[in-house]
Amino acid sequence: MQSIRQLAGLVALLAATAVAAAEPAARWDPVPLGSVRWRGHLGERLDLISRARITSPVAWERIYPETEDAFRRREDDRDHPRAGHWRGEFWGKYILSAVAAQRYYRDEALKERIARAVEGLLSAQEPNGYLGTYRHSAFAGPTTWNIWCRKYTLWGLLEARDLLGDERILPAARRFMDHLAAEFGPGASNIVETGLFCGLPSTSILTPVVMLYRASGNPRDLDYARYIVDQWSKHPDGPPDLLRRGCGDTPIHRWFPDIPPTRWTKSYEFMSCVEGMIHLHRVTGEAPLFEAARNLYGLIRDWERSPVGSVSLNDKFVGARGMLNTLAEICDVVYWNRLAFELFRHTGEPAYLDEFERSLYNALLVGASPDGTWGLRRLRTTHEHVPAHPHFLPHHHCCVDNLPRGLFQAVQATLWSDADGLLLALFEPLRAEIERPDGARVQIETAGDVWADEPFRLTVRTDRPTEFNLRIRRPYWARTVSVTVGGEAVSSETRGPWISLRRRWSGDTSVDVMLDIPIRAEVFDPTGNSWTAEQLAEQAREWASLGLARWDPEARKAVQVKSVQATDALPHTRAVFWFKGPVALARDARLGEWDPHRRWAFGAGEPPTPRAEPRSAPADIWKAWRLVWPDGATADVCDFASAGNTWDARSFFSAVWLCGEP
Ligand SMILES: [Zn+2]
Repeated sequence: MQSIRQLAGLVALLAATAVAAAEPAARWDPVPLGSVRWRGHLGERLDLISRARITSPVAWERIYPETEDAFRRREDDRDHPRAGHWRGEFWGKYILSAVAAQRYYRDEALKERIARAVEGLLSAQEPNGYLGTYRHSAFAGPTTWNIWCRKYTLWGLLEARDLLGDERILPAARRFMDHLAAEFGPGASNIVETGLFCGLPSTSILTPVVMLYRASGNPRDLDYARYIVDQWSKHPDGPPDLLRRGCGDTPIHRWFPDIPPTRWTKSYEFMSCVEGMIHLHRVTGEAPLFEAARNLYGLIRDWERSPVGSVSLNDKFVGARGMLNTLAEICDVVYWNRLAFELFRHTGEPAYLDEFERSLYNALLVGASPDGTWGLRRLRTTHEHVPAHPHFLPHHHCCVDNLPRGLFQAVQATLWSDADGLLLALFEPLRAEIERPDGARVQIETAGDVWADEPFRLTVRTDRPTEFNLRIRRPYWARTVSVTVGGEAVSSETRGPWISLRRRWSGDTSVDVMLDIPIRAEVFDPTGNSWTAEQLAEQAREWASLGLARWDPEARKAVQVKSVQATDALPHTRAVFWFKGPVALARDARLGEWDPHRRWAFGAGEPPTPRAEPRSAPADIWKAWRLVWPDGATADVCDFASAGNTWDARSFFSAVWLCGEP
């Protein structure tokens, strides 16, 4: 609380701070999306999901039209004045993924479809600027998602404008924003008092508002962004108060002792607001915005992030890192990685990449069905995942529509550039072509399955001799890293986050990276959070609360079938998660024994390290190994993202290993 007192008045200070003339430079820039193509397992998954959901003609015949149609039907407030829904988010989310897919695949037909989609959407805009899925534009009471939906419309329009260069979009966005500000803004309804969860979903429109300002240069947009941030702190004894409390060290779920966190800490809306703070900092240079965002990221990592890289319990910040039984939303993973991406970009600190990679290979990759057509609503770390059920539109769900954006962003997190050269951050097979500032064209091809202990080979090809510094991330999970360039060993005496290869590159050069990747344990400490027995029972009920969505033909709707009970929750005890690099390992019923209550004689000390022998696995499982411990005990495991991917009892699984009594 002391830090909050010290920071009292911060908002007033911000208002008085002069706007920086120039945006602060990023430490690293992702290379443009169309310059890199993943070619390994992740690339295959991305291609499959993109085809199923975005790039194929059938996607535009069946999946897309519902999103645009919602703007003509305007049924989101059918229950007016009691409640409003969120069909309006899907146009924007879908277009954001489509724009990313177009840039990645350079697909001209897709560009044409996006242009038609924008035209179709704008034909639903009212002369007064209103463009929404609510019949009553001003209906934004405490049980609605009206402004939240408009956030995605504005965001989708602005990214489509960047892609298409269509100058009709900006005036439409201007009218859209003026209408919004006239209904929810200074002198009108207070935006932070609209919608659910204490204004977090509504005020997360901050990111596209800042994007609009960057596009328009109109001070009204910057004023509106500042207005949003200002409103967060209007009720200092209540939520959300993101900026002031965001600079303190109290975990988010304990900010307001009299207000249960489940009433307001809606995770991805919260993180989306934090991302907005980073974007606003970019245009104003106001340091407290960035420091609060960075600090909030740290609080979420320390208090909410699970070993598989998900955050929160059932989409709220409640201290989830101290819980063994995880139930987490895929949208939360997407936005958690968005934060890591932006923070790495601006700080260059490798720890953000570590977090990004952990979430990517586990909690993000688990999000789609093996055929790529659909996705999860919640992931668990044991028993069964929770598939999505459509949100009002037959082919849409928040997580299913968000997931492709998360994967395209992961492509962008693979290869970065700065004035000095390039950084390879993830060990993925890929092909990239980049133009250096001196005009030289550099091709980089990487190959090798490092999770199968193969060497990772980069082939660097230039069309003319050019000097730059090629840096390769030195991952925390490798026991040793050795590098040869053109067959000659490179000294690895200098430690640090990157292996730095500065030279004059000419013609074809092979760089071989050997990573020694032991099986690694992360121990869950049950004493980290002082939960009472009552709290643990409540968490177990929450963990079991969501069931599978199955279609009931008589009722003609998806019904929840609860296959997991609170009594299935694992006991709150010492446990181990095993990893190969960033990849969490899980037992799965298809590989044999999976009993989640089986205890392992790891005792109180460091668990003994097993060796991993590759083994065969059924289709739809990416990686499988047999772990063999020094005492002869064995376990058959697969990668976490493949475990449980039948979404039923055939693939009951567990990434949690309960320890024996110490
Ligand atoms: Zn979601």
